[in-house]
Amino acid sequence: MSLLISKGGFTMMVSKFSRKVFLFFILFPAAILSKEYKIAVIGTGYVGLVTGAGLAEIGHVVTCVDIDQKKIDQLRAGLIPIYEPGLDKLVEKNVLENRLFFTTDIAHTITHNDILFIAVGTPMSDDGQADMRYVYSVVESIAQYINGYKIIVTKSTVPVKTGKSIKKMLEETYHIDESIFAVVSNPEFLREGSAIQDFLFPDRIVIGSDNADAIAIMRDVYKNFSDNGSQIVTTNLETSELIKYAANASLAVKLSFLNEVANLCDRVGADANTVALGIGLDPRIGQHFLKQGPGYGGSCFPKDTQALVHIAALHGQSMDIIRAVIVANEYQKTIPVTKLKRLFCTRYRSDNLTGKKIAVLGLAFKANTDDIRYSPSITIIEQLLKAGASVNAYDPAAMENMRTMFPDIAYFSSAYDAIRDADAVIIATEWEEFKTLDFAYIKTIMQDYIIVDARNIINPEILVNSEFLCDTIGQSYLCQE
Ligand code: NAD
Repeated sequence: MSLLISKGGFTMMVSKFSRKVFLFFILFPAAILSKEYKIAVIGTGYVGLVTGAGLAEIGHVVTCVDIDQKKIDQLRAGLIPIYEPGLDKLVEKNVLENRLFFTTDIAHTITHNDILFIAVGTPMSDDGQADMRYVYSVVESIAQYINGYKIIVTKSTVPVKTGKSIKKMLEETYHIDESIFAVVSNPEFLREGSAIQDFLFPDRIVIGSDNADAIAIMRDVYKNFSDNGSQIVTTNLETSELIKYAANASLAVKLSFLNEVANLCDRVGADANTVALGIGLDPRIGQHFLKQGPGYGGSCFPKDTQALVHIAALHGQSMDIIRAVIVANEYQKTIPVTKLKRLFCTRYRSDNLTGKKIAVLGLAFKANTDDIRYSPSITIIEQLLKAGASVNAYDPAAMENMRTMFPDIAYFSSAYDAIRDADAVIIATEWEEFKTLDFAYIKTIMQDYIIVDARNIINPEILVNSEFLCDTIGQSYLCQE
């Protein structure tokens, strides 16, 4: 068994401090490539496309394959099907340098590559488990077309013991000898919105396998990153698979805890931002990810927390903390509209929103992405419509995606257009452009002056001074008139 390895030039040496996205084209010039592997990335979504482009950037020859013909046609035409800052340039550069290819031909991709990254979706099933049909359909394709030694890498977030069951499936169902493949777990930790930087400068790379040779090869695949200071954690399949779920669950716990503290702040006149600072300065707690808001969303935390509960239950273990986090997060998503109703009550002695026009600024689950999966804005819009209000929506990147879910609400091409003639505004996503809105001007175009800033991005004193009736999450005391 052998892998095709062509030798390149030098190992990269880059300062740990040069972590700026705009520098990566300088940091990873094609001229300083080290070893080159032939890699297939199966599934060309948020993770697959960033992984493919990122692996090409460090010198590998990568083929990204997807079953979505439209997506592949777009990519071949030089169009990026998702919004991710910097991705267009990274893809363009590596396509031009002949290290990045796009296809729908799975058979050719499997037969002509040595390392096969599975990066298809593992969405939440109706019962909360990870839906593994896309992963296993890829494994079936691998079984069908395998023509020599392959390293099969799960980049998708997969339940613990998936690696083992892929191995079992190939051996027992398809009678493929274990000498011609190895299974590796290599979970991805990138964050949408800063995915390029996260991929090219990872905090850590986790590689899990029971096959020492495969681990050695994967270490080599990521050699540029480890030379650059990223720590590689090697372990067995189960540990690697669990690290990914435990990481997302830890972050969900941290965020939800601060959300609850922020809700308490609003009741007792405390300031959640300062509480976050005061506790985060303790290095055991840390300041990152202590930001209250309308609850977490996105393609990972909601489904991965649910999946972890199911994985644990399958093995006779309860996950009471994560269960509580899931409940708390659903509640948190309802807070912005509850606060809005309270403000209407203050002004009109009625929280009736029937016939009111509410501008929702921000539809993506967070800034710098067009991803709306499990976005708090979905709950906000649903609640507003249920209460009889009409919705004026605006988002710099996510409107097309939201239109598929809410085709009948009004979409506008700027925040000001969405706000014009509205009775109230909810800021639901922390986009940079919302931070500099001109509230003196906004007062001249709104029907009424009511704002819920669910991301705490506007100084409440500015709103109060402009005679807005306003509320935040965790800083309500600043909104008192
Ligand atoms: P996605 O839905 O954006 O992309 C999945 C892609 O796989 C789609 O383009 C789909 O057409 C394609 N696909 C499905 N079946 C296929 C097949 N048989 N062959 C080829 N392509 C196929 O999903 P995503 O957000 O990129 O997530 C992928 C995985 O990575 C998930 O397990 C997710 O949990 C994990 N993950 C996601 C993120 C994130 O921020 N999005 C971060 C870390 C990990």
